[in-house]
Amino acid sequence: MRAELIMVGTELLLGEIVDTNATFLARNLADLGIDVFFKSTVGDNRERVGGVLTEALKRSDVVIMSGGLGPTDDDLTREVVSEVMDAPLVEDQEVLRDLEEWFAERYGNADMPRHNRKQALFPSGSRVISNPVGTAPGFWVEREGKVVVALPGVSQELKAMFSESVLPALMQKGTGEMLVTRNLHFAGIGESNLEEILEDLLREQSNPTLALYASGGTVRVRMAVKAETREAGLALMAPVETEIRRRTKEYLYGVDGQSLEQVVAEILLQKKLTLALAESCTGGLIGHRLTNVSGSSGFLDRGYVVYSNQAKMDELGVKQSTLEEFGAVSEQTAREMAEGARRAAKTDLGLAVTGIAGPTGGTDSKPVGLVYISLASNGDTIVQRHLWKGTREQIKNRAALMALRLLWQANE
Ligand code: ATP
Ligand code: MG
Repeated sequence: MRAELIMVGTELLLGEIVDTNATFLARNLADLGIDVFFKSTVGDNRERVGGVLTEALKRSDVVIMSGGLGPTDDDLTREVVSEVMDAPLVEDQEVLRDLEEWFAERYGNADMPRHNRKQALFPSGSRVISNPVGTAPGFWVEREGKVVVALPGVSQELKAMFSESVLPALMQKGTGEMLVTRNLHFAGIGESNLEEILEDLLREQSNPTLALYASGGTVRVRMAVKAETREAGLALMAPVETEIRRRTKEYLYGVDGQSLEQVVAEILLQKKLTLALAESCTGGLIGHRLTNVSGSSGFLDRGYVVYSNQAKMDELGVKQSTLEEFGAVSEQTAREMAEGARRAAKTDLGLAVTGIAGPTGGTDSKPVGLVYISLASNGDTIVQRHLWKGTREQIKNRAALMALRLLWQANE
């Protein structure tokens, strides 16, 4: 089965918004094992949308459209599909009633704006795709073995409708088998190193297949298997996962979209450990990532952003002699920062980062990208030295990631 995407919206062509819908759809179709050979972006123009749709239907079995389902005059998708598929628009009474109710609930009267009535129109023979999060329903219409699926542009709505309605329908239309996927997430190891460790598995596995993806310092291994049920698929993947875990234990922190900070939060909450942060070059980034996890107040006590030498001394009790002798970016300072944060905040753990994010400020002995990360606990204080290449932002992000990884590794 071949699918293709048509993203409708002039604002996409003007570069005003990022086409996250296309990314989402493409990725999900790939996960289903459905080939996508074309994706088009077209403005809110009737003739041009019609032209693109006509072309798409010549070469693909399923065309998924995003956007242009709203109530306003520039929302043309339903009209265009109706024309191209030769399926006159008919009003769906049930949808109309739902729309009227929705407006009555929101605005306290049943007088729905006349324009919104349009949202109850569908090409004849359509299957309505209900919208659990907004007003505009989508539709699925089939003619001579070709399918057009129209979804609203609002990402939250498109995602919900695709996952709940379109995806199961596409699977049924396919082989009857489903593609079951499971993602394993790694930190602290590069893509090529991981590839080497898993080389034989990557080469020899066919069901499940394995694929590696790197982004933002982490690597994801996607396992995908064709099976009749999700359970059967997971059972086929289990032994492969066990083998991967055996080889990569110290890097594999999570599965299926789990973030490192989520995993860290779970561990600290479960072990009832409290944490204080001392951030120099990351400027609060570790605190930001940890506080993205709901419930983080259960373990995160405070964070010090200590950029100047004075702040490191005032807040954390880093010794002036340490700073003078070894410098702010040194193993000794990192250690005193972590221990100082733990002591000042009276927490179980103190996590500190100091480094040179660049692009200026590097020297021969302390180049840009040199970062020390330290974790103090009631046992020994750990200090790690790293040297990364990259832009200022990349180095800050990498430092935050590896600090979280140290926290995970030491407490796992
Ligand atoms: P509405 O009922 O809001 O008019 P619609 O189906 O007509 O929905 P559009 O008008 O095309 O959809 O887009 C609505 C909003 O959805 C846009 O302003 C934009 O913020 C977002 N959006 C549209 N297309 C995309 C896309 N491809 N990726 C991400 N966001 C998008
Ligand atoms: Mg619109």
